[in-house]
Amino acid sequence: THFGYEQVPVHEKRARVAGVFTSVARRYDLMNDLMSLGIHRLWKRFVIDLAGVRPGERVLDVAGGTGDLVREFARAVGPQGLAVLSDINAMMLGEGRRRLLDRGIVGVPLVQADAEKLPFAEGSFDCITIGFGLRNVTDKDAALRSMRACLKPGGRLLVLEFSKPLNSALSKVYDEYSFKVLPLMGRLVANDEASYRYLAESIRMHPDQATLKRMMEEAGLARVQVYNLTGGIVAVHRGFRL
Ligand code: SAM
Repeated sequence: THFGYEQVPVHEKRARVAGVFTSVARRYDLMNDLMSLGIHRLWKRFVIDLAGVRPGERVLDVAGGTGDLVREFARAVGPQGLAVLSDINAMMLGEGRRRLLDRGIVGVPLVQADAEKLPFAEGSFDCITIGFGLRNVTDKDAALRSMRACLKPGGRLLVLEFSKPLNSALSKVYDEYSFKVLPLMGRLVANDEASYRYLAESIRMHPDQATLKRMMEEAGLARVQVYNLTGGIVAVHRGFRL
């Protein structure tokens, strides 16, 4: 295509995703701050507020990486509740554990799991989140179905993910940024241009707002609402298991 994107076969995608996150685990948070100019913190804050987690609830953060979301959920659920961090990558979970302990947060179980086949009983959680994770999952429909199954009836799923800028001027600036600036930053900061090129490409391949909404509905989620952030660069989709 016009970005020089080469289609990655499905079986290679899994290995590539694993490689990217193993190679970036230690620098992951620094890179997030640099690449998003710190704005990812605001996007996460929005999800935390919209999730509206209450004391005593059970919350699961899927593809939770270094634990930015679960940290807040652990506070919100209090001693009677439960907040679980899960991710497919052991290195990312290791960083998550380290960062939770640094902040004195204990009692967050860490579960290594593929979002496509979560190892939790049907109806285990009041709230499930996946932040900047669905994009990396090979079979997104399977992941949506698996997350829905883990929700209690009435429970909510929140998906925070890159999406499609709402206007073409923003879209142009954003393309320049992600295909020129991002790989350069990747080279300078992480000595890893390829991983950050992959990142930009995976963002473009990800379903836009309307498509993801439909996918969630097809996976059995109801009352799906879309919240655009930063002009649609990022969107939060929230749906319920009824
Ligand atoms: N949620 C964190 C955040 O917002 O900072 C981490 C996001 S990070 C961009 C994406 C995470 O998805 C990585 O930690 C990666 O290991 C994880 N991941 C990739 N494929 C996955 C899968 N199939 N199931 C579960 N996690 C996966």
